[in-house]
Amino acid sequence: MQRHAHRDTRRQITRSRKATMRIHITYTGGTIGMVESPNGLIPGADMRGWLHRLITDAHLDPDLFSFTELDPLIDSSNATPDNWQAMIDDLHSHRDEADAFVVLHGTDTMSYSSAALSYALAGFGKPVIFTGSQHPLGKIESDATANVTGALNAAMSGRFHGVGLFFGHHLFAGNRVSKSSSWAFEGFSAPSTGPLARTGTPWHWYAGSALSGEGWKNPKPYTRHDVAVIDMAPGISAARLGAMLEPRPEAVLLRAYGVGNVPSDEPGLTDVIADVLHDGVPVVIASQCQQAEVLLGHYETGDAIARAGAIGSGDMTLEATYAKIMFLLSQGVDAADFGTWITRSIAGEISPSSL
Ligand code: ASP
Repeated sequence: MQRHAHRDTRRQITRSRKATMRIHITYTGGTIGMVESPNGLIPGADMRGWLHRLITDAHLDPDLFSFTELDPLIDSSNATPDNWQAMIDDLHSHRDEADAFVVLHGTDTMSYSSAALSYALAGFGKPVIFTGSQHPLGKIESDATANVTGALNAAMSGRFHGVGLFFGHHLFAGNRVSKSSSWAFEGFSAPSTGPLARTGTPWHWYAGSALSGEGWKNPKPYTRHDVAVIDMAPGISAARLGAMLEPRPEAVLLRAYGVGNVPSDEPGLTDVIADVLHDGVPVVIASQCQQAEVLLGHYETGDAIARAGAIGSGDMTLEATYAKIMFLLSQGVDAADFGTWITRSIAGEISPSSL
């Protein structure tokens, strides 16, 4: 009896808090709001009207919701750091008038954007939840309603305060997640950490899901930088790798094998990487494994590049690593401090145990 009474009180509090929370929704584009055209899917659905119906059907007060439609709406395959910054600017401009935020975004690069925003908004102090859908909202079999209501629930839960991504019944930390399926409704996964919560009656929140990081004081806006993302593949030659690194980029993200191995028997290959480092260009080594802990020097094949100064990405996702490199370059962090910041957690994107 006692326990039930407590639970009921808690539910009432949760319900009344939800009923008065102010939510801002930033719509950036993506399949969720697309319609058929002779050239394939393009933005064009009545997102504002659809959201209004969704909110009133859920017995929420539409006056507590604000909405921005970014211009232009984009397929997220076209996103650049300029689009990340446009989202950040919109969230900042509504920070005082909302308690929680939902960002509607295409699935293709949603996990890059959610990671990028997690660094820039480490001190934001209010939940920001990304979501989108595999099918446009107008389709009968669409996952749009489930994903948007899930994102709203996560935003209003009072249990999550960073940048998250809700999709396919799961809430993830925005800097721990990757798009893992181009078609499944459960289209995202967090290979190193798992989800933070899953839906149900009630939602199940997993233990130890708090994001911890050092934050970043007064982040400068994102700007575009020349970062080379290169995959190792069996048979890659020094000449090919060298050609891909001319002219020199501002930083290199090399997707190596396993724990960060590159072919050490291929003549001159590791020398190419050492030369790039020698020229003052940071080289970050990630893994092609979805679930990885990069440990340079564990094998001889990773040792030479580690000695030359390459930096391992620990258990960060590719998206979190790439966005972090863009973030650090935008902050003006120089090559000498790059390694320190790549391996330190700004917003929970990396586990200390993975280094
Ligand atoms: N190409 C679309 C986008 O990322 C895919 C989607 O939204 O599902 O904008």
